[in-house]
Amino acid sequence: MTVLVDPSNAEVIGSVADAGEEETAAAIGRAAAAWPAWAAVAPADRARLLRRFAETVDAHLEELAGIEVRNAGHTIGNARWEAGNVRDVLHYYSATPERLAGRQIPVPGGVDITFHEPLGVVGVIVPWNFPLPIAGWGLAPALAAGNTVVLKPAAWTPLSALRLGELALEAGLPRGVIEAVAGAGPVAGWRLVTDHRVAKVCFTGSAEVGKKVMAGCAEQVKRVTLELGGKSANVVFSDADLERAAAAAPMAVFDNAGQDCCARSRLLVHKPVLERFMALLERAVTSVVVGDPRDEATQMGPLITEAHRRRVEGYLGDGTPVAFRGQAPEGPGWWMAPTVLGPVAPSDRVAQEEIFGPVVAVIPFDDEADAVAIANGSRFGLSGSIWTENVGRALRVARGIEAGNLSVNSHSSVRYWTPFGGFKQSGLGRELGPDAPEAFTETKNVFISTEGTR
Ligand code: NAD
Repeated sequence: MTVLVDPSNAEVIGSVADAGEEETAAAIGRAAAAWPAWAAVAPADRARLLRRFAETVDAHLEELAGIEVRNAGHTIGNARWEAGNVRDVLHYYSATPERLAGRQIPVPGGVDITFHEPLGVVGVIVPWNFPLPIAGWGLAPALAAGNTVVLKPAAWTPLSALRLGELALEAGLPRGVIEAVAGAGPVAGWRLVTDHRVAKVCFTGSAEVGKKVMAGCAEQVKRVTLELGGKSANVVFSDADLERAAAAAPMAVFDNAGQDCCARSRLLVHKPVLERFMALLERAVTSVVVGDPRDEATQMGPLITEAHRRRVEGYLGDGTPVAFRGQAPEGPGWWMAPTVLGPVAPSDRVAQEEIFGPVVAVIPFDDEADAVAIANGSRFGLSGSIWTENVGRALRVARGIEAGNLSVNSHSSVRYWTPFGGFKQSGLGRELGPDAPEAFTETKNVFISTEGTR
């Protein structure tokens, strides 16, 4: 049993029974049994069911957002966006069943056509930092392509996934098409990796666990998508609109209390403007509103657990150069003030490891080549931002940085219309965007001879 705690006040909000090996195997069995009928649903009907699921999520948006505020400490503004994202992603992929067309390829002697065949049961393993959207990014395209799904939320944040499973039934999806299983990663999650009835694992989480999942999937040559950690760079050039860049920098890393795989946790600043930028940044950081996640004005809530806060604070030991900090409430809850470190060398531990909390490392750079080299001096490559008014430089640097999701003069990372995923140890494969459903299919080629006896 896992006891669930509200991170903003340390109060127990409930508990959830952990699914063991047996319960997880039974859920996989139900998803496997439901698959043939789901794959055979006519495209327009599958589309209609997904749209109905989207509408049902929308009708429960406040409830789902409230769960995330209580269970994960997310600000109410973010939590509403997250529930709305599930709705939008379901709507977006509800267009897939009627458009998942193969190709007709010119060949001699006959006709050649390809089909996108569903895989079967897909295991979607979700981390605690964005329980709702990440569940949606896996399950919507998987269902649209004709697969059934076993959804495994993180042990600390299971409530929204369990509720999504209920809402799917309410929307009319057949039983077994989505099975939500709350349980420990090494038990319930690992079962999804090792069970032969699961055709693909769609994993989001830490690089360390992701590597184990990948190795486990290799045993069965199981399909796997990995969305892992990040240490993304926010690169500010002297020719940028410095006011805008400084105003935007705090929430590019402190959003969700820094517990964001796309957090721009390395802030690379061009040396000629370092002093001016730091003054602007201090003003922006000290005005970040940290507090009760239920308050609409709050910008940053607490960290997820006491243990995680301890881990994050462990990075602020003796010798760590703290430039300045913002505010945080006192009292119960896992609060931590936004913290700016600097100047930091690119090889320092705080500039290399994913801290996953409200801590940003400021790293000064000399020129464009230096900025790109520092940005790329990481085992990760998930996101990043480039602030400059020079369009040529923006494109050169964007092409030079080894990361899957870059934005110029903004901090946008995840937009469901566009592909999302990481270079290097930030992951394998892409989610979202127009091509995501194909990652939940096998391409089958069929050749039909037109030659023969007349
Ligand atoms: P985690 O790796 O500890 O856990 C992720 C999920 O895997 C959880 O559901 C967990 O129960 C499960 N799990 C744990 N051990 C397992 C095992 N042996 N077999 C199968 N499943 C197992 O990660 P976390 O602490 O929940 O999340 C934080 C991490 O997720 C950060 O590194 C963050 O960068 C990353 N993340 C990446 C993205 C992305 O899209 N790239 C998005 C969000 C979070």
